[in-house]
Amino acid sequence: MQGTLKVHSENILPIIKKWLYSEKEIFLRELVSNASDALFKRSALDQGKEPGRIDISIDRENKTITIADTGLGMDLEEVEKYIAQVAFSGAKEFAEQYAKEETDSQIIGHFGLGFFSAFMVASRVEIDTLSYKEGSSPVFWSSEGSSTYEIAEGKRSSIGTSVTLFLEEASCEYLEEKTLADLLKKHCSYLSYPIYLEDKLLSHTTPLFLRPAGECSEKDYLAFYRELYPQDPDPLFWIHVQIDFPFHVRGVFYFPKMHKGFDFQSNQLHLYCNRVFVADSCKDLLPDYLMVLKGAMDSPDIPLNVSRSYLQMDKTVRSLGQHIAKKITQKLQTMHAKEKEKFLEIWPEIEMVIKLGILQETSLYDKAKNFLLWQTLDGTWVSLEEIRSQGKKTVYYTTKDAQDLGISSLYKEKGIDVLLIHPVIDNPLMQRLEETLGLTFRRTDAALEEAFLDASREKTLLDDSGRSGAALIADFIASSLDEKDLRVEAKSLASEKVPALFVIDEENRRLKEFLMTHGKGDSLPQLPQKNTFVVNTNHPIITKAFALKKTQPKLAKKMISYLYDLTRLSHKELTRKDWGAHIAKSQEMLEDMMQQIP
Ligand code: ADP
Repeated sequence: MQGTLKVHSENILPIIKKWLYSEKEIFLRELVSNASDALFKRSALDQGKEPGRIDISIDRENKTITIADTGLGMDLEEVEKYIAQVAFSGAKEFAEQYAKEETDSQIIGHFGLGFFSAFMVASRVEIDTLSYKEGSSPVFWSSEGSSTYEIAEGKRSSIGTSVTLFLEEASCEYLEEKTLADLLKKHCSYLSYPIYLEDKLLSHTTPLFLRPAGECSEKDYLAFYRELYPQDPDPLFWIHVQIDFPFHVRGVFYFPKMHKGFDFQSNQLHLYCNRVFVADSCKDLLPDYLMVLKGAMDSPDIPLNVSRSYLQMDKTVRSLGQHIAKKITQKLQTMHAKEKEKFLEIWPEIEMVIKLGILQETSLYDKAKNFLLWQTLDGTWVSLEEIRSQGKKTVYYTTKDAQDLGISSLYKEKGIDVLLIHPVIDNPLMQRLEETLGLTFRRTDAALEEAFLDASREKTLLDDSGRSGAALIADFIASSLDEKDLRVEAKSLASEKVPALFVIDEENRRLKEFLMTHGKGDSLPQLPQKNTFVVNTNHPIITKAFALKKTQPKLAKKMISYLYDLTRLSHKELTRKDWGAHIAKSQEMLEDMMQQIP
């Protein structure tokens, strides 16, 4: 008997082949999962009378491979309907969809091509099938992938389906048992039914993510991770997700250790659909900041054969991502509350990701506010909520590389919390949190706190011309430096450790930093100079230099100029162009010292 396909489209195969050329191996995954579906449907019908199995055999002489199952089979009507029409129209739809896409657009997975993918490797496909239905006779179907097919009486004597592929010359690699075994291992090792390749049973297990969380031990989770990513160091922590409503998902998501060279952009989450491996990356499932997550998940509800832009809009996918994000914050929340030590150990490794998350979705702050910690100058960890709960509106910070500088000691002496920040992520984050939390962030050198002054030692005494001692020192300092717009103040600091410091206007500095990081450093000179050089009238360098002014004015000037450089250095205000002068100054000082050697 001869038949013609209802859907006409002669160019389907060339399109599909062009699209999936590099992924033609997926034919095996598609056919084996069809077999698995048929087995599942049969087991649902006759409640497991016969243990189902899938057999894959190779005939090198005739260049065929056969995928046979003991599933529910098909009768004549079903072959015509499902294979000739459904499978073909599925392929047509697939071809039409992808013919429209740009060649470089990203498709995640290529599920849905189904039975027709057989023609990516075979010039002819034959089916021999016997339906479970009473009184059915076996059906033989054969096609070369065009719109015509042949249908006849089949030979199968037991219920089930055999699909035989007559491989094209270019696809003869699939006659190798090893090639097939590797492919089956990759895509099908978690199937519910045993697969025999050339009569040998391939190992198959229930993957960790399909097992109830309560049955999995820490050892199991680590072993599974090592199996997925043998090169990786052990992960920091993980969550096991089991959802049935409003979508079905089983998954284990690991937070990896970010080793050197860690790729934040490439997602490596393994995606399964009904136990069949589909993809080892699914970028658009998770919010951007959680792209670092690794692990494996199985969901029959994710539309896999659609393009990236569609996926981003899909409601199921979005709420799935949200759910996983929620689970991650809950896990961190619990760890922070119940296993503080363990939490503090991993926090420095994950804080970047969480902070990035808040930048992407401000609402994440509320979920993370209790465990969003910063280390302070004295080594403890503090959250903004704790600072706020003390009624404070200003949060002081400094960078890690500046924590040992003199100005930090002023805060330490007064017991004021100072956060140690990572400028790259914390600068934009602070900006955002200032807007949402009504807090002000100030670098330690943004102002001179009242608390740092010692009023009792202030030089208030006026001289003949009506100037105070402090004003005279300030005049001396200003005249020793050749800086036009520099403001100079002389203050009585309580600390004797700090001879001088800069007070740098916070807004002005942030603007400068912004311009620098955005490559607009050229426009810097137009910004007004807003630094104030504050000298400590209680520090011997200042008092001695001031006293020296009369007897050795040159030396006094040199000392102040050098101190000024050191202060600029410690506030990162000594720029490259100043280095030459500074080095010359240092050398001159060494030479002066040498003069002292008899
Ligand atoms: P899908 O599996 O997505 O429905 P396919 O093109 O793979 O699409 O298959 C079309 C239909 O052909 C299936 O839905 C199923 O009804 C039938 N079919 C395919 N393979 C088998 C098989 N091994 N046993 C029984 N029915 C099958």
